[in-house]
Amino acid sequence: MISEYNEIWENPDYYSGVSTYLKEIPEEKKTIFVLIENEYNDRIFWNKLFTSIPSKYNFRIDTHKYTGSTALIQLAKNGKLNACRVICIDSDYKYLLDDDIIKNKFVFHTYTHSIENHFCFGKNLHYYCEQVSTLSVDDYFFDFESFLSNYSKIVYDTFVCLFCRCSLLDDCKCFDAKRNYQYLYFSPIITNLLTEYEKKIKNIRDKYKSESKKYDEINRYSKDFIGTLSDTIIRKFKEKHKYIRLCNLCNETFKNEAKLTLEGKGVTNNNLYLFVRGHTLYDNGIKQLIKLIIKLLENIKVSQIFNQCQHKTFKENRSEFYNHYNSYKPHNVIFPQGLNQECEFVENIRNDIRMLYIPKVMISYSHKDKSDANRLAIDLQQNNIDIKLDDKDMLVGESIHQWVEKNLTECDYILVLLSHDSIESSWVKEEINAARMREKESNKSILLSVMLNGITSKDLPLLLKDKNAVSLCSKYEDALKSILRSIREYEQRSHINNA
Ligand SMILES: [Zn+2]
Ligand SMILES: [Zn+2]
Repeated sequence: MISEYNEIWENPDYYSGVSTYLKEIPEEKKTIFVLIENEYNDRIFWNKLFTSIPSKYNFRIDTHKYTGSTALIQLAKNGKLNACRVICIDSDYKYLLDDDIIKNKFVFHTYTHSIENHFCFGKNLHYYCEQVSTLSVDDYFFDFESFLSNYSKIVYDTFVCLFCRCSLLDDCKCFDAKRNYQYLYFSPIITNLLTEYEKKIKNIRDKYKSESKKYDEINRYSKDFIGTLSDTIIRKFKEKHKYIRLCNLCNETFKNEAKLTLEGKGVTNNNLYLFVRGHTLYDNGIKQLIKLIIKLLENIKVSQIFNQCQHKTFKENRSEFYNHYNSYKPHNVIFPQGLNQECEFVENIRNDIRMLYIPKVMISYSHKDKSDANRLAIDLQQNNIDIKLDDKDMLVGESIHQWVEKNLTECDYILVLLSHDSIESSWVKEEINAARMREKESNKSILLSVMLNGITSKDLPLLLKDKNAVSLCSKYEDALKSILRSIREYEQRSHINNA
């Protein structure tokens, strides 16, 4: 006979019909299918990320019929994602605007506006130019980091309006893309500078008969040009940016609120370039800038080669340099090296990936049972479970209702601690109700009941009567093991069901 205190895994009836699901599958054979928005950049970027995490799971980027983020997001919204099938999308503004889609555990996103923003990461551009030109970084360098930080400072106030209350008002034209779009990026400025530079170089070539004089001049002019380049672009961009037209509805209070929101997401006036539309910043700015800088460095390098060698070997040396130079194409190098130096948000993505197999468990309890809750929380956490406990996780000033609601929907399991106090608590009752609803909708076990001192199955609320509960009264270690084993079994089962 099975006593009603029997723990869940000891009850053969409980598993009837599902026993085949419970056979262990070797961890190393688990494959997770990954759907991405596009083939080229996305594949390189995400692949690099997945392989940078030591994992027993094999992430396989799937070639698939869904392209573009809309189709992928639809999969998430229709509940088609699971621990075996995940999607990777650009954050766009979803991260900054707290869109629910990115809170889905099976949705990975870039944190920056898009993958292209990662390609604009200052340190990588620096590294790329160094590799291409073979020139030492500190001698003739364009400081990408300070350039991008200056750019960010200029567009910051404009960008703030996107997240400002004025943008909710009908008359707000702050982010009227058609009107303001061209003032946010700097492509024409650089195209003009490149034309100006090339014209001058042609003049030098035409003007001087002597090769050495020619190279001297090209060298001198190029060094001057690169030395003032950052300031020139920034100055011209500032002038251009003045023409951006914001609405008059925005006030300091709105703006300060928006700044705080952005700050909370790690957006500052130094790194804003990671959050403007990356496709545009990269395609209509950074690419041209790289082209110009590499042109400058190429000329400096060739002049150097001329000066450093005997005339008879100049050709050989030069062609050697060009062989190297030509092997570096932006597409071949910036992309694969895209994560060579990582911006601060890459670690967030990695954490999301790591969390894929860490169950999130919320503990629902009465504050009078705080010590039991804390003890369980600590022990479960040590067993690689992500515990959500209001005391520990809630921020000062955060809405309790919102916190509870968020965790009731996001957590994989709700562990309810049943005592005479908690059974009477309206909070706990509400939490049990919500978890039961989710169980019905998803057809999964979400609610795990734990009986505290003095509670017997007779005391259980009606909603929990048919649920096997574990008791903390007898041996704590055994009860802890039971909880852990249940969670692992449920995870296993949902993995197999989803495969
Ligand atoms: Zn505004
Ligand atoms: Zn506005």
